[in-house]
Amino acid sequence: MIKENLELVSENIKRSCENSGRSPEDVTLIAVSKTKPVSALMEAYNCGCREFGENKVQELVEKYEAMPSDIRWHMIGHLQRNKVKYIVDKVFLIHSVDSLRLAEEISREAVKKQVEVSILIEINAAGEDTKYGVSPSEALPLIKEIAVLPGIHIKGLMTIAPYVENPEENRQYFELLRQLAVDISSKNIDNISMNVLSMGMTGDYMVAVEEGASYVRVGTGIFGERQYPI
Ligand SMILES: *Cc1c(COP(=O)(O)O)cnc(C)c1O
Repeated sequence: MIKENLELVSENIKRSCENSGRSPEDVTLIAVSKTKPVSALMEAYNCGCREFGENKVQELVEKYEAMPSDIRWHMIGHLQRNKVKYIVDKVFLIHSVDSLRLAEEISREAVKKQVEVSILIEINAAGEDTKYGVSPSEALPLIKEIAVLPGIHIKGLMTIAPYVENPEENRQYFELLRQLAVDISSKNIDNISMNVLSMGMTGDYMVAVEEGASYVRVGTGIFGERQYPI
């Protein structure tokens, strides 16, 4: 099942690239494996998957230790400052930075462990009360403050679009994220780049790819529905 799902998602990404004149090499699929057992991750791994996304620190660390070492781990969930120390030397990219205090903690731990940490700034593109992330207008001032911190590198932006029936409704938010990255890039801030856009999930990744996503984060579409403890 996971194999077929991965093939379908990859095929869809390819088609969306063709539709929008993009190269499929410019889009990376992150298999979002939260709540799923290591056996399911291994199945995806054996199909060639090397990018995995988790949203909880403890789960990420456990799977990091259980899985092969050539995986790139993506922290995609809200990150508490007191847990930064457990993951700075394990993650390839932290997608969910939305405050100076969190960035300062990441910087501090990065310097301490002598690693360079890549991050994205999470944008609450639709202005939903329930979502983390900064508003589009808060992004530039925050980025200017983070840019000067040692050991931490801003690579681009991330957004979690609203849950919608029709993915076309989210096109506006993906466009907004791309435009925001272009605007910020034009400010030529030292020590940052805006090349990475992390956007699109199972329900809307094809639209996100058409709008320029470099990472799509797909969970259900690969591993099936998640069962949460009641
Ligand atoms: C769970 C999650 C996803 C994947 O969601 P699906 O709808 O299952 O594809 C993507 N991004 C984030 C931040 C998530 O927490």
